[in-house]
Amino acid sequence: MIHYRIRPLRPEAHLFQVSLTVAEPTPEGQGLTLPAWIPGSYMIRDFARHIVSLEARAGDQPLDVAKIDKQTWQLPPVSGPVIVDYQVYAWDLSVRGAHLDTTHGYFNGPCVFLAAMGFEDQPCQVDIEAPEGAAYGTWKLATGLQRVSGPELGFGRFRADDYDALLDHPVEMGDFEHAEFEACGVPHQVVLSGRQRADMARLCRDLKPICEHHIKLFGEPAPMDRYVFMTLVTNGYGGLEHRNSTSLMSPRTDLPLRTDGPDRVRDGYRSYLGLCSHEYFHTWNVKRIKPAAFTPFDLRGEVHTELLWAFEGITSYYDDLSLARTGLIKPESYLELLGQTITRVYRGEGRHKQTVTESSFDAWTRFYKQDENAPNAIVSYYAKGALIALALDLTLRRLTDDARGLDDLMRLLWQRYGQTGEGVPEQGIRPLAEEVAGADLGDFFRQALYSTEDLPLAELLAERGITLHWRAAEGHGDLGGKPGGKPGAGKPGAASGEAPVNLGVRVAADPAGARVQLAYEQGAAMAAGLSAGDLIIAVDGLKVDAANLDTVLAAYAEGERVEVHAFRRDELMRFSVTLAPSEATTAWLSIDGGHLNDKGRAWLLNRG
Ligand code: ZN
Repeated sequence: MIHYRIRPLRPEAHLFQVSLTVAEPTPEGQGLTLPAWIPGSYMIRDFARHIVSLEARAGDQPLDVAKIDKQTWQLPPVSGPVIVDYQVYAWDLSVRGAHLDTTHGYFNGPCVFLAAMGFEDQPCQVDIEAPEGAAYGTWKLATGLQRVSGPELGFGRFRADDYDALLDHPVEMGDFEHAEFEACGVPHQVVLSGRQRADMARLCRDLKPICEHHIKLFGEPAPMDRYVFMTLVTNGYGGLEHRNSTSLMSPRTDLPLRTDGPDRVRDGYRSYLGLCSHEYFHTWNVKRIKPAAFTPFDLRGEVHTELLWAFEGITSYYDDLSLARTGLIKPESYLELLGQTITRVYRGEGRHKQTVTESSFDAWTRFYKQDENAPNAIVSYYAKGALIALALDLTLRRLTDDARGLDDLMRLLWQRYGQTGEGVPEQGIRPLAEEVAGADLGDFFRQALYSTEDLPLAELLAERGITLHWRAAEGHGDLGGKPGGKPGAGKPGAASGEAPVNLGVRVAADPAGARVQLAYEQGAAMAAGLSAGDLIIAVDGLKVDAANLDTVLAAYAEGERVEVHAFRRDELMRFSVTLAPSEATTAWLSIDGGHLNDKGRAWLLNRG
């Protein structure tokens, strides 16, 4: 048995104390290692750099510890148990890290639990202890780990079937608020940490149909016997999926309030529900239906797969769609979200440079390490992947006259791979899709996965009585999805007579002007020499900032020249910019005739 003990040693210093006991160490000397990354977040994070001190002993005898590489240690051969004591610095407030202060503690296994090498298949026990001191007397504990001892929501002893399971159960401790609900007979816990005034009853009421939708989509019974939604309420946004829990980060303004009324879904709350829906869908799609490359995970370094478009893209497609299918949001509200996703993909030239399979493969060094040039150079396997999922769903439905669709493909993936534990081969999706379609889908997959051609979305949506419109962006806060107030239409990228002009930059507010965050490759500013990082202070001698830049430009027409003053580092520079019309890359959707036709309902509401 492998035994761990973890306790917040000094919350004010952000230090966890961890002890690992290996009862029968390997005869040649016990090896110890910490993962370089955490499943679900494809970037090398080198968690071992947060180990502050590490000592080992056999009985009372201190042992010499040799460091082998950045994340591996070697103990000398000994007979009898060895105990390894170490401290972990926890000051990363993210869903993939560890964080400890006087208000709460949170950790992911890969940040704190060293693997006893050679024993990864063995079950392990973990004692999780409360910090010392009266100030922490009210702290509770939430985790999906299997409890061995201790009261419900209390500190105590837990177990995991193996090291992989130990890593997949994050732990939250503190004075959090919690509530429970059941979905298809499975108990679900909702935990909110941080200051907030959320309507917990509303949250449970709305999460239940989402969970039931996903469970029924893949088929009962659910693959977990309980589930925990853990949310750290802060000003960040994000989520990470686990086998029977999820860690989320959400702004408090995205949570439902008692003052919202029973049915109002604010945009922020819609986005929070979408996030919960997304991570819950992963319970099947990526936690159990996994790429063969992740079976098992090699956490020492990068593991490449071309399949992230399927695991993140299909999940991103269903996260919002299920909100409409369950009636939590109206079809129009769903189409607004879909319009925003289309807009995100079409605003970047990167979609013409990188395929989704390339984007998946290079996630480690490109999608997860985006710089100011990212929209010009890469495509998101989330957003483009979601559009491929949409196109695949509508294509399967077209070929089977709505008898079958993407739901059937997901069920087949679940039966063939999720339930068997076999990994999905890199080319494994297409044959199953063809089985659902009863037709060859070679052309579809070639175009969607291995080319950078745009998908035939307008045509596929038109069959459902939905029209895809394009217009120019109205300012830098325009996310798309809505008709917009200004005229201007046309094909994406095509000039349109009445469209407003722009500089072809994305700017951020700065006390001294408008800071260029990114210069679009086809934009007027780049052609004139402006770059990301430049601080624009004046247009034709008039002071500008991020807030008034669009208003100032509204006085100009296509083809006119303006003089732009900007600082690059501490040098004032002058650029002569020939204004170009804004490209019509902002999408929005409308329902023909104002209400969904039969084919629209069959798809969007999954109803005949
Ligand atoms: Zn995801």
